Amino acid sequence: YPGAKNVLGGIFYTTILNRLIPNFWEEAPVERHIKGIQIFLLSETNAVSIGVESEEHNKPPYNNSFTVSRAKFDQWYAKKAEEAGAFLITNTVVDDLLWENNKVVGVKARGGEGDIYADVVIAADGVNSLLAQKAGLRKDFRPRQVSLGIKEVIELPREVIEERFHLSGNEGVELKYMAGDATKGIWGGGNIYTNLESLSVVVWVALESLMERKLKVTELMEQFKDHPFVRNYIKGGKTVEYQAHLAPDGGYDFTPKYYTHGLLVVGDAARFLNASIHYEGTNFAMASGEAAANT
Ligand SMILES: Cc1cc2nc3c(=O)[nH]c(=O)nc-3n(C[C@H](O)[C@H](O)[C@H](O)COP(=O)(O)OP(=O)(O)OC[C@H]3O[C@@H](n4cnc5c(N)ncnc54)[C@H](O)[C@@H]3O)c2cc1C
Repeated sequence: YPGAKNVLGGIFYTTILNRLIPNFWEEAPVERHIKGIQIFLLSETNAVSIGVESEEHNKPPYNNSFTVSRAKFDQWYAKKAEEAGAFLITNTVVDDLLWENNKVVGVKARGGEGDIYADVVIAADGVNSLLAQKAGLRKDFRPRQVSLGIKEVIELPREVIEERFHLSGNEGVELKYMAGDATKGIWGGGNIYTNLESLSVVVWVALESLMERKLKVTELMEQFKDHPFVRNYIKGGKTVEYQAHLAPDGGYDFTPKYYTHGLLVVGDAARFLNASIHYEGTNFAMASGEAAANT
């Protein structure tokens, strides 16, 4: 089903979504709006932190930042697309592009779906886009060009989360751990995001540095969760989901060509991710999808 395999660290940035579906939060399965962020710089035993939050973020459009579960949110959003006339085929893999006279004219899907023809193909197949590669728009990745993120969803009662993070109602926060001991000196970071009745705990690292240091990201996650400035936030919680995913990294120099005759590339497939402090890709994925639709 839509969203079954999709990984988002924590915050769905909703500037574009709110333009497409005004006041979407009244009906969409969102978790909490993010009213503030606390940034930590860590050593093994010490932390420096700085926070930003605003009462303005408790009002529409809620800082354009919501925690969501992709498994729930994507199903809701896919229904919206169907209502608008899209025909959805899930549970299949696209193995190749169909070409005629140097133009992409469709895709070759695995299993019963077979060949599917279209006036234009929009490749939204994520960071590892095989379609962009098959169309010759990108080369093989080098480790420098991707980050690896892993995430645990840790269940806690709603009232514990609200007391621990000083929240009320549907307010939420992000804790962002950067530099130093969060990832044992590897380029990357850690995050805790508040959902309604769970926390999303994320560790992400540059793949090249991870390989050079010969470390396992799963070990980094365990060390992160056990860090003195992390463990009290997740204390008593139960891990109910474990996810891992690559993300585009390396900046503008590594972006592919975005089109060829009959094909447009959007979202992570086009490497539209701001891998800065905010690590935002959701709004770029939506904006590029919208731009492709309008082209
Ligand atoms: C650990 C981590 C944390 C992140 N945190 C944030 C965050 O807090 N905020 C934020 O804005 N962004 C975040 N991002 C980035 C964000 O998740 C992506 O930018 C966004 O999901 C991109 O959307 P997309 O639709 O382009 O790609 P995806 O969400 O990756 O979707 C691609 C889809 O295509 C499917 N697919 C792939 N190949 C094929 C094929 N051959 N045939 C059929 N289907 C195929 C996949 O199964 C998937 O469903 C994070 C990413 C990671 C990895």
